[in-house]
Amino acid sequence: MDWWVSLPKIELHAHLNGSIRNSTLLELAKGLGEKGTIVFSDVEHAILKKDRSLREVFKLFDVIHKVTTELETVTRITKEVVEDFAAENVVYLELRTTPKKNDLKGISKRSYMEAVVKGVMDVTTVEVDLAPQGLGMGHPVNSGGRSNLCNGTARKQKIYVRLLLSIDRRESTESAMETAKLALEMRHLGVTGIDLSGNPVVGEWATFLPALQFAKEGGLSITLHCGEVPNKEEIQAMLDFLPGRIGHACCFGEEEWRKLESSKIPVEICLTSNILTESISSIDLHHFADLHKAKHPMVLCTDDSGVFSTSLSDEYALASSTFGLGRSKMFQLAQDAIEFVFADDAVKAELREIFYSAGRKLD
Ligand code: 5GP
Repeated sequence: MDWWVSLPKIELHAHLNGSIRNSTLLELAKGLGEKGTIVFSDVEHAILKKDRSLREVFKLFDVIHKVTTELETVTRITKEVVEDFAAENVVYLELRTTPKKNDLKGISKRSYMEAVVKGVMDVTTVEVDLAPQGLGMGHPVNSGGRSNLCNGTARKQKIYVRLLLSIDRRESTESAMETAKLALEMRHLGVTGIDLSGNPVVGEWATFLPALQFAKEGGLSITLHCGEVPNKEEIQAMLDFLPGRIGHACCFGEEEWRKLESSKIPVEICLTSNILTESISSIDLHHFADLHKAKHPMVLCTDDSGVFSTSLSDEYALASSTFGLGRSKMFQLAQDAIEFVFADDAVKAELREIFYSAGRKLD
């Protein structure tokens, strides 16, 4: 098996609808085209196009959202996404998605999220741990999982899955608050945090702050898409909020870097996404190198593995070849991510064991 696939990995920045398989997206779009719900030729080009600007990416998300409105589809893509991550040895996955209300179809934010949870439970290829014991759901939540013979004892491959509810920057304060409340109510189903995402040129920080504050005070962890476009004031306000992590951090000035460095807030790094959307002009200029040199906490992630045709193994291989980091440094990077997961100490302890035993085998 490819070394990068064998490496146990932790994925902390993956959007559900951005991680949809291309084949599934095409199949769903064709199906809706045949039913006359959409005109397939209108969306085909957007789906098949490879390099997309940030603006085009958000256009594609509108297409994806058109074909993933049914709850069964949400369940299907969730199952596939978890199985795809597990297949490349992702041992802990934080999957984020924006709960979507659709009054015409009688879908509420809650029923959308229940469809996501069902998708996680439907996974058959591996065992899934979705929520801490004692929070209402024992683990594992499914009966899936291949048996691996390990030291003479049968051990099933397992993936920890935790869910983050995204607030889209198009939302109002009330709608963001509804998502925060829902997240708090769904903690027994694996929801551990809130993400702020969506088109970075849309919306104001002040609109989302009450919901983010409410969620934080309620004990949820927060991650923010931060600095995808230049916006000094917003970046500073986000850092002052002290989120558990931030995503991207592409357009930071000197002052923001200093603030980030002293805050020690971990950064979710999405190399391929940043390059394809031209948030960063060239991979060798990516801030990964500076953060790594400064020993700033960070984690490699995919962002949207479907939309950007990547995988977490590919992101590790890319970082290694671009920045000249050998396997032991890359193993360390993967392992360091344990400290940034939005899960309890028991999960972190189990992840440390997984990395310890993998480290001995991968040497
Ligand atoms: P979903 O929340 O529907 O499961 O995943 C797709 C959504 O995630 C997009 O509509 C968008 O709101 C958010 N998203 C995905 N990728 C990015 C990204 O690179 N930047 C930002 N700001 N948001 C993103």
